[in-house]
Amino acid sequence: VKASFPFKDFQKKLLSWYQANKRDLPWRHTKDPYAILVSELMLQQTQVKTVLPYYAKFLKLFPTAKILAKASEQEVLAAWAGLGYYRRARFLQQASQKVSELGGFPKDIEGLRSLPGVGDYTAAAVGSIAFGLPKAVVDGNVIRVLSRLFADLTDPTTSVGKKKFQAVADECLDPKNPGDFNQAMMELGATVCSPATPSCPSCPVRGLCAAFKLQRMVAYPNLPARKGQVNIEKSVLVVRRKTKSGDFVLMAPRTASGREGDRGRMLGFWHFPEVELKSGNGEKEAKDSLRAIFGKVEATGKPLSRFKHTVLHFQISLRPWMFDVPDGLAGKPWKFVLLKKAQGLPLASAEKRILGLVAAGK
Ligand code: SF4
Repeated sequence: VKASFPFKDFQKKLLSWYQANKRDLPWRHTKDPYAILVSELMLQQTQVKTVLPYYAKFLKLFPTAKILAKASEQEVLAAWAGLGYYRRARFLQQASQKVSELGGFPKDIEGLRSLPGVGDYTAAAVGSIAFGLPKAVVDGNVIRVLSRLFADLTDPTTSVGKKKFQAVADECLDPKNPGDFNQAMMELGATVCSPATPSCPSCPVRGLCAAFKLQRMVAYPNLPARKGQVNIEKSVLVVRRKTKSGDFVLMAPRTASGREGDRGRMLGFWHFPEVELKSGNGEKEAKDSLRAIFGKVEATGKPLSRFKHTVLHFQISLRPWMFDVPDGLAGKPWKFVLLKKAQGLPLASAEKRILGLVAAGK
């Protein structure tokens, strides 16, 4: 693709920089394809420092694909709770089930690619690190480095752009050391060649970088304008029943799609009844939906602290309303859950925060 580029020199400079500067991360001490798959799925859309405690805990609970394959969905979701993008946890379990059926991990890119939740990027990462397969990883970090290195204005979000950057990345790859090379490219993008303020003076490939020569680093990659943010206001119903054996709150596991744009990722996660604010009167709308659940019921709502929650490009403002209700009410599919036990259920971060507000009475 780039005939005159000194690929060997580039690989040498990048790899020696990586050996001297790489961060000491637990998944860099293993060649176990399962542990690498766990780390790669956790790291999608999630920062390294967030992933670290989850990675250790997850591998302790489920040290092999065989063990994860047999775990219950609730156990897996509870171990993932708080990490977000829960579809990844389901995919990881489904992939482990397929690996168990096959009697081990496939050792080629096509085979890895056929595992649930494993796309081009993850197949290349697992294949190159665990099995030394010569396939380049291409993610946002790698695209940023490559587009700057070659001053390439191709839009990487188009199908032509995706193919082009994969071809360029494959050509740059050191076939003798693909695992380290891939990690070095990601590391350079994550730590040196950052989006807004790349640290070019400390970059090992500065002398080969076309964008640096032009002093136009942030013009690359050439990304389309971002989708605007959508603001939504919601009321959440915290329906509490006080008893001698403790307080109960009304919750249910999600059976259809969850919050905006999550396309079913929150299936099985427990949540409170919630209603989108349309009239501007949150208390009235919360009361109306309380009646929609139980029929006629007399209860006064007490507002808890409002907070903001972001899902993809949705900025959701949530206001919990607490209602104390008498014994004997029932409304399917909702269940009264002992408040102390609710924290142990699979919960998204917004629900955890609401339970914290309920416990603190704020
Ligand atoms: Fe990125 Fe700057 Fe290095 Fe070029 S010289 S690859 S822009 S950090």
